[in-house]
Amino acid sequence: MRLLIVEDEKRLATALAAGLTAEGFAVDVVHDGLEGLHRAAEGTYDLVVLDIMLPGMNGYRVCAALRAAGHETPILMLTAKDGEYDEAEGLDTGADDYLTKPFSYVVLVARIRALLRRRGGGSASPVVTVGALRMDTAARRVHLGEAEITLTTKEFAVLEQLALRSGQVVSKADILEHVWDFAYDGDPNIVEVYVSALRRKLGAAAIRTVRGAGYRLEAL
Ligand code: CA
Repeated sequence: MRLLIVEDEKRLATALAAGLTAEGFAVDVVHDGLEGLHRAAEGTYDLVVLDIMLPGMNGYRVCAALRAAGHETPILMLTAKDGEYDEAEGLDTGADDYLTKPFSYVVLVARIRALLRRRGGGSASPVVTVGALRMDTAARRVHLGEAEITLTTKEFAVLEQLALRSGQVVSKADILEHVWDFAYDGDPNIVEVYVSALRRKLGAAAIRTVRGAGYRLEAL
């Protein structure tokens, strides 16, 4: 899952990005509202964390502009002021949720996961099941039948992309886009490395290569 953080307080933005990266998200950070709008409008993000008081363009206007252009990416707004006025204005402009600073990091992660689940078909369950494979995206645990499989954060993120679209072909570019951030300019074949690792752990039959198209997770 790929997140965009639009936050001009650089220390906060850096800390959030580090924490969310450790959780297995691909995270991009920008410090300016206008740049945030341009990035978010590219449409490759699964969720945007948007501060309100920003240089360039404020968060309300960024949010309103994205919604006006038809982008439905979930937006979690960060506000320094707590007051019903801000909340109403934030939700009015099309934000999906808001958090008042200072906020707990744990609460932020929980809200992000809840928004991503809601977007993923309205299911409140963090558990994705494909045949005997069971991924708990909240606890970040994977079971194959009774056996627990230990995955690295990147392996988990790659498998999650495949599991969310099980039975469908997911392209290498799609996986790259959602699992690696824009600072990654290495070899796109990195995806193959992770797919090989997943096959070693889940069994060779788990992930089918569809030549020239991508990968498909098979029900085991
Ligand atoms: Ca700010």
